[in-house]
Amino acid sequence: MSEATERRDNLFGLSSDARARLIAKLSSLPPRSGDPDRLDATTLDGARELSIVAAAADYLGIADPFFRVHEGIAGATTVIDGRRYVNFSSYDYLALNGDTRIAEAAKAAIDRYGTTVSASRAVSGERHIHCQLEARLARIYGAEDSMVLVGGHATNVSVIGALMGRDDTIVHDALAHNSIVEGARLSGGRRLAFAHNDPEAADKALGEARARRALIVIEGHYSMDGDVPDLAAFAAVARRHRAWLMVDEAHALGVLGRRGFGSAEFAEIDPGEIDLWMGTLSKSLVSCGGYISGRKTLIDHLKRRVPGFVFSVGIAPAAAAAALAALEILEAEPNRVARLNRNAALFRDLLRNAGLDIGASIGAGIVPVITGSSIMAGRLAQALFARGINVPPILYPAIPERAARLRFFLTAGHSEEQLRETVRVVIEEVRAVAAEPIDLAAVARHLGGRLSD
Ligand code: PMP
Repeated sequence: MSEATERRDNLFGLSSDARARLIAKLSSLPPRSGDPDRLDATTLDGARELSIVAAAADYLGIADPFFRVHEGIAGATTVIDGRRYVNFSSYDYLALNGDTRIAEAAKAAIDRYGTTVSASRAVSGERHIHCQLEARLARIYGAEDSMVLVGGHATNVSVIGALMGRDDTIVHDALAHNSIVEGARLSGGRRLAFAHNDPEAADKALGEARARRALIVIEGHYSMDGDVPDLAAFAAVARRHRAWLMVDEAHALGVLGRRGFGSAEFAEIDPGEIDLWMGTLSKSLVSCGGYISGRKTLIDHLKRRVPGFVFSVGIAPAAAAAALAALEILEAEPNRVARLNRNAALFRDLLRNAGLDIGASIGAGIVPVITGSSIMAGRLAQALFARGINVPPILYPAIPERAARLRFFLTAGHSEEQLRETVRVVIEEVRAVAAEPIDLAAVARHLGGRLSD
């Protein structure tokens, strides 16, 4: 890594040396009060970095933008602390959260089955509603069967962890979601990350890996950047290496393709080319849970082997019913997908034409504004919040410092006026924040004493 790149990747642009001194300085601070014989959370991995970010935010007067409490249904707008905001922090892409048809279906499922199925599906937790949901999900992908688990994150961790073993290799996109990485780690197999959206790099990685079995994992629509992979190229790489291809559709279902059926529809390829479709019920389907769709033999095997399915409760009746009702609406009302895509494309174009850096976003549902600095992203998010716009900043260490950004999630429910007004305010606030630069050396001095760089 060149020195310049390293600087941009580090906290506040500090060199690794300066950062190490800053952390060392903070480490030498006396521990907060507490019982020395009990576990001290401030000694845990990452605690120092979190405390630096918090101290810097405090010094700069940036309020914590996380864990904000929403007081009702969060969609295109939301209420926080009694004030209504235009909201870009919800994954409710199709503006279905709170839809009365979905709420009624969930309530009817509670009336019929109660609030829990109390046990794993195999033992005594199986209900018709689970099977109906799995069949409907399989139909979307033209697959033979599906399995539904209690969480999207748990689905990736548990399925990848169980599917692959010590003698296997998992090759995944460098920007793959944490749950994919955790699943690969759990499997005990070899894990190789390839350059983002680069099928040739995946091909090369597989060529070098000697493995009993290999799995390529990519996402259908990347949530940080709003860009998409060349699905056909990845399918060809998988075939060439006799590897399995798994596609995470968390941000693709309901978003990509004319009917919102996801990546295969968008790429116009046969969904049967993909061995495992993975997705979550928590975004377009406004529920909670995760799924895998694929061949029946594979799903049958997974239902007997995946710990997160075998040893965990079946999803709650209300959650299954909500996802099923949302799927029915997705199929019946494709105009929602068109509205979402229209909104996102308009938003992307307005920002781009204003000269803002939106990275590689295709403008289907996610549009970032890359600020290149965590402080800039935090200040900008705060300035927008003060003006009635709720958009989360993505900061180091969640992302390399130079990639710090605001991330806008669009929904079918945003009005054109809301989008135009938001872009107008973003442009104004970017200018205002840039006009008042922060003295990084002063921040570092405040945090750690004298830190010459
Ligand atoms: N995969 C991807 C790509 C995601 O973005 C997420 C959540 N943001 C998940 C999996 C996990 O889904 P859930 O939040 O429903 O557990």
